[in-house]
Amino acid sequence: MRKKPACLSFTLLGLLIASASQAAESDWVEAAVTAVNPQVIEWRHDIHQHPELGNMEVRTAALVAEQLRASGIEVRTGVGKTGVVGVLKGGKPGPVVALRADMDALPVKEMTGLQFASKVQGLRLGKTVPVMHACGHDTHTAMLLGAAKVLAEHREQIAGTVVFLFQPAEEGAADADDFDTSSVAGARAMIRDGALDSPKVEAVFGVHVMAGYPTGHLYYKAGPVLNSDDEFRITVSGRQTHGSAPWTGSDPIVASAQIVNGLQTLVSRRSDLTKGMGVISVGSINGGTASNIIPESVVMTGTIRSNHPDIRAGILEQMPAMVGNIASSYATTAKLQLVPYAPVTVNDPALTQAMVTALEKAAPGKVERLPASLSPSEDFAFYAQKVPGLFVFLGATPEGEDMSKAANNHSPYFTADDATLATGVKAHVQFVLNYASR
Ligand SMILES: [Zn+2]
Ligand SMILES: [Zn+2]
Repeated sequence: MRKKPACLSFTLLGLLIASASQAAESDWVEAAVTAVNPQVIEWRHDIHQHPELGNMEVRTAALVAEQLRASGIEVRTGVGKTGVVGVLKGGKPGPVVALRADMDALPVKEMTGLQFASKVQGLRLGKTVPVMHACGHDTHTAMLLGAAKVLAEHREQIAGTVVFLFQPAEEGAADADDFDTSSVAGARAMIRDGALDSPKVEAVFGVHVMAGYPTGHLYYKAGPVLNSDDEFRITVSGRQTHGSAPWTGSDPIVASAQIVNGLQTLVSRRSDLTKGMGVISVGSINGGTASNIIPESVVMTGTIRSNHPDIRAGILEQMPAMVGNIASSYATTAKLQLVPYAPVTVNDPALTQAMVTALEKAAPGKVERLPASLSPSEDFAFYAQKVPGLFVFLGATPEGEDMSKAANNHSPYFTADDATLATGVKAHVQFVLNYASR
């Protein structure tokens, strides 16, 4: 039971001081974010014009390190290959929280026609490809740089320590085959290199821009918020022969057809769908050269997504036997390569609840709770497995536009509105301030 206040006037005085200090806090945040905003937009345009693929973010990382150092923030480079970690010690004792931005772009040819559209190409496994910031990671990097500057300028008011995680390769590495299980990239590589260890991070936050949602609006959800993602490649080997006499060989095409259908039953017959959802999609299937030749082999690739760890685990556990047994029942063999990309991204429920105030301060009256988890995946999930995490979404389509017509993230026409950046910067700053005073 709560005790009665010993002295009413003393309590009132306390309340007055608290609300005055809160008002003062929001005043300096607002003013500081407004002051840094032109610079954030400038950084964003510069990074957008010079996009770099996963593990190739050399120019972007150099810009990040230079700007963090200019703000007097301690910097570690080469973390998780091309990642940058900044550490800012506040003027008052308090918790250690991490803010994360990803820096990588995608092998997409930009069609936006923006003045600051991508000017460059990149190398992916030795091949020259177009490169574009088609997922808005340019805005993430610029917003976190803006937040770092604001927090550093007000370090005396900050309780605790802020760790800035600028990670590479969220979309995968451009210097490794997608099915090379020995290569570790992105968030996993950052964690391996101690990004959460010194100082020891106790909570982690991330913001992702989303097209089709209005500028300046923030979206959150407690618990599972993004799907897991596991990629697979199946090579079915048979024995090549003439199409007129299939009994003289073994047909990997018929076996592959059964495997494609069989995989669907891992969700529809074997998963407890009261817990959540799962999807298995075969996205490529290649085999054969002529209409009258049964080929030697077929190669297919696909993706597995789920919003529940049990459903994901069940599929991953049952898939090898199903693929192998179907293949052998058609006198073929199958090699299955399964590459985990990200677990389900789960927002810590208590942390989410505690941070709604921070979101409201960043976007007053423009904060919405998502009714369901979203289908994409994010390697932020790995940080959130280590420490309580909160990953939120920031609308990036101008309010007057038709949201249903906005080009999606990863489209060559994807754009993120500059006018939303200030809200993202504020959200980062408020996470730090509100976590310390929660
Ligand atoms: Zn993406
Ligand atoms: Zn992304």
